[in-house]
Amino acid sequence: MIRNLKFINKKTFNARVFSSWNTAKMTKILDNNNYETRDKLKNLFKDELFTPKYNITLDQERDLAYQRLKKVCDLKTVSVKDFWNNPKNIFTVHELNGMADGSLCTKFTVQFNLFGGTVLKLGTNKHHDLLCDGIDSLEKVGCFGLTELGYGNNAVEMETTATYDPDTKEFIINTPSTKAQKYWITNGAVHAHYSVVFARLIMPDGTNQGLHGFLVPIRDEETMEVRENVKIWDMGYKIGLNGIDNAALWFDNVRIPEDNLLDSISQITSNGEFISSVEDKSSRKRKRFIKLADQLLSGRVCISSMCLGSTKMVLTSTIKYANSRLAVGKKGFSDMAIINYQLQQNELMPLIATTYAQNIFLNYVYDRFEKQTDQDYAEVVRLCCIAKPLVTWHTENTATVCRERCGGQGFLSANRFGEALAGAHAGITAEGDNKVISQKVAKELLETVDKKEVGYHLVKKNSMLYFNPFININNLDQLQDLFESRYKYVKFDLALNMGKSKDIFDTWMMHQSDNIQNLSKTYSEFEVIRQFNQQIKNVDDNEIKNILTDLYLLYCYSKIKEDVVFFSLNRVLDKRTLKKINNNILELNKKLGKKSLELVDSFGIPDWMIHSPMANDWEKYNSYQNSGELEDQSYKV
Ligand SMILES: Cc1cc2nc3c(=O)[nH]c(=O)nc-3n(C[C@H](O)[C@H](O)[C@H](O)COP(=O)(O)OP(=O)(O)OC[C@H]3O[C@@H](n4cnc5c(N)ncnc54)[C@H](O)[C@@H]3O)c2cc1C
Repeated sequence: MIRNLKFINKKTFNARVFSSWNTAKMTKILDNNNYETRDKLKNLFKDELFTPKYNITLDQERDLAYQRLKKVCDLKTVSVKDFWNNPKNIFTVHELNGMADGSLCTKFTVQFNLFGGTVLKLGTNKHHDLLCDGIDSLEKVGCFGLTELGYGNNAVEMETTATYDPDTKEFIINTPSTKAQKYWITNGAVHAHYSVVFARLIMPDGTNQGLHGFLVPIRDEETMEVRENVKIWDMGYKIGLNGIDNAALWFDNVRIPEDNLLDSISQITSNGEFISSVEDKSSRKRKRFIKLADQLLSGRVCISSMCLGSTKMVLTSTIKYANSRLAVGKKGFSDMAIINYQLQQNELMPLIATTYAQNIFLNYVYDRFEKQTDQDYAEVVRLCCIAKPLVTWHTENTATVCRERCGGQGFLSANRFGEALAGAHAGITAEGDNKVISQKVAKELLETVDKKEVGYHLVKKNSMLYFNPFININNLDQLQDLFESRYKYVKFDLALNMGKSKDIFDTWMMHQSDNIQNLSKTYSEFEVIRQFNQQIKNVDDNEIKNILTDLYLLYCYSKIKEDVVFFSLNRVLDKRTLKKINNNILELNKKLGKKSLELVDSFGIPDWMIHSPMANDWEKYNSYQNSGELEDQSYKV
C-alpha cells in the first residue's frame, strides 16, 4: 500500500515502492480475528464526530465521549453477550476504540466489561433480562463501584456494607466513613443509571459473608435525577482523558430489593438464609472476593487491547513524520528525512519490534481466554495478568520516546501524544497497579515450584549448567531457550530466598521486591518470545517470515541489552557475544529503518483515522490559522 506520496521523502519513498512484503497480509496476521468488526468500526470512524476537538469545556468533552460511544453501540457490532460466544470481538473493539479516542474507549470498557461483564457473570437470568439489551444499546448506562478512597489495590478490606433486612427483603447499602466512598468511578459523574456496588454482605445476626456485587440504581433513567440517599461527587479535571466522567459515590442507607444481589455465587433463600457455592470460613472471606473480582481478569485484557491500539497509532504518526521531516544533510542543508538518522532508528525500531511481539502475544492471550477451562484457569489468569503491565508500560514508553523524537510537534495536543500518555497511565493504575499485579504473578509462579526443583537449581547454578555456552544467537529456538532458562533461574532463586525466610511478609515486602518484579518480567518476556517464535513457524509466506524474523531478533537482542547485568554477571553470555548482539541491534535498526513505513502500514490504520497533522501535510496545516484544532481537514493527504 503506497499512500501520502507527496510527503514522503524520496530516499525513503524508494524503499517503500519496492516493499518486500504484502502489508495487507501482515495486517491480517496481526489483526487475527473478527475482521468484519474491524472494517465496520474503521468505516464508522470516518464520521466527523470522531475528529478530535481540543478547545472545549469539560462538559462538552464528556458529552463528546458519550456521543462517540453511542455511535459505536448503534453500529450493533458488539454485545456484552459476546463474552459468552466471542470474547475476541470485545477485545477487538477495544483495540479499535483505543486508536480512535482514549476517553471513548475507557467509557466503553466500563460499560461492556466492568459493568456489563460483571452483570453477565455475577448476575443471573433476571439481571440479564433486565439489563443486557440496554447495555448494548447504551439505554442503560452502568458503572463499577469497587475502589474506595481508602482501599484500592487492597480492595478486599473495603468498608461499604450491604445489610440484609429480612422483614422487607431488602439490602441496605451504606458508606460508613469518608475512606469508604467509592472513588474514581468511571461513568459515575454524568452518565450512569446503575452502579454495581461491591459491599460487605452482613446478615441480620451480624455475620459478615464477605464482599458481593449489588446492582444499585443511582439515577432515574428518564430524568437523570440522582436517586434518594445516593450522593455523587464529580471528580473534575484529571491529568488527561477528561472525556471520562469519574465520580465519588456515597450511599446513605440506600434500600434495594434482595433481587439486586448479583447472585450467581451466593443467594438468600426463601427462608432468609445466606448460601454460597464458594465455601469460605475465613473471617475476611478473601476466597469469596477473589472469585467475585473475576471480572478484573478480562478487564486487564481489555486495557491491554486498548493500549495496543493507542501504541500503533502513536508509532504510525511518528514514523510518517520521521519520513517527511527534513533536517541536516551531508552538505549542511535541511534535506535529509530524520528517519535516516541512526538516532531515530535506534530509538524507534525496537519500539516497533516490541509492538509486533506484544500484538502476537495478545492474540495468544485472547485465544487462551476464549478457550479457558477449569484445568488451565490458573495459567490463563497469569497470562491475562502479565498482558496489562507489558502493554501499558510499553505504550507509556512509546509515547514518551516518540514525543521526544518528534520535537516540538510532539508537544501539540493535536498530534495526540498527551492522550496516549494519559491512557497508558490510566491503564498502568486501573484494575490493579502493574507492580502489584506483578507480585501476584510472582506469587502464583512460586506456588508451582516444588522443593526438588529448587535443589536441582542449586546444583545447576553452581556447576554453570544453566545456559547453553555455545548459543547461536541467530537461532530463534536457542534464543527462546535462553529466555526460558533466565526465567527459571530467577524463579528458583526467588523460591530459594523465600524458602529461607522466617517471616514471609517481611521477606516478601521488605527484602525481595526487585526479585519479585524480575520474576514477573522474565516470565512475561519468555511467554512473548515463545508466542512470537511460534507465530513465525506458522507463517508460510517467506517474505513475511523474513520480516517477522528480523523483528523477533531485534526484540530478543533488545531484551538482552536491557538485562545485560544479569547476562554478564551470571556469565551467561561472554563479552564477544554481547558485542555481537549490540552490533546486530544496530544493523537491524538500520535495515528495519528503511522499511519503517511498511512496518506501520501493516498496522492497517486507514488514513482517515490518522488525524495528527504531523502524519499528514503538516506544511499545509500550518499555512492557515488553525488554533491547534482539526476542523479544517484540508491538511489530510
Ligand atoms: C482513569 C481511572 C479510571 C478508574 N475507573 C475505576 C472504576 O470505574 N471503578 C473502580 O472501582 N475503580 C476505578 N479506578 C480506580 C483504580 O482501579 C485504582 O486507582 C487502582 O486499583 C489503584 O488503587 P489506589 O489508587 O487506591 O492505589 P493504592 O492501592 O493506594 O496504591 C498506591 C500505591 O501504593 C503501592 N502499593 C499498594 N499496595 C501495594 C502492595 N501490595 N505492594 C506494594 N506496593 C503497594 C503501589 O506503589 C501503588 O501504586 C480508576 C482509576 C483510574 C486512574
